[in-house]
Amino acid sequence: MTDCLFCRIVAGEVPADVVARTPTTLAFRDIDPKAPTHVLVVPVDHVDDAGALDAGHGALLADLMATATAVAEAEGVAASGYRLVCNVGDDAGNTVAHLHLHLLGGRSLAWPPG
Ligand code: 5GP
Ligand code: ZN
Repeated sequence: MTDCLFCRIVAGEVPADVVARTPTTLAFRDIDPKAPTHVLVVPVDHVDDAGALDAGHGALLADLMATATAVAEAEGVAASGYRLVCNVGDDAGNTVAHLHLHLLGGRSLAWPPG
């Protein structure tokens, strides 16, 4: 059994509020939402973080973005706007070492974040 939390969510070993699933991606609600819509979009196959991506991940990145777009539309934030965030490393506050996009929307999002 893997000790990666998001691999375990992908495998169904840890429950999550799944909002979209494709053969290569899974989208589920963040357990501690920072906005009315806060969905995490992850690859099914483990990738540590964005720093581990290379040219061979091109199709996977397109899949992640396509799932994020579909979730934004389904959540009703596509027209009002939303933010995609990908944290890498300690200074960004990355806590789960499985690549994920945060999709945040449903309110005005200040920039830069605190
Ligand atoms: P990071 O800080 O690594 O960019 O984002 C990790 C995110 O995962 C955080 O926003 C955190 O709230 C979320 N998270 C941590 N544990 C769980 C969990 O067990 N289930 C879900 N759905 N989200 C989680
Ligand atoms: Zn993983």
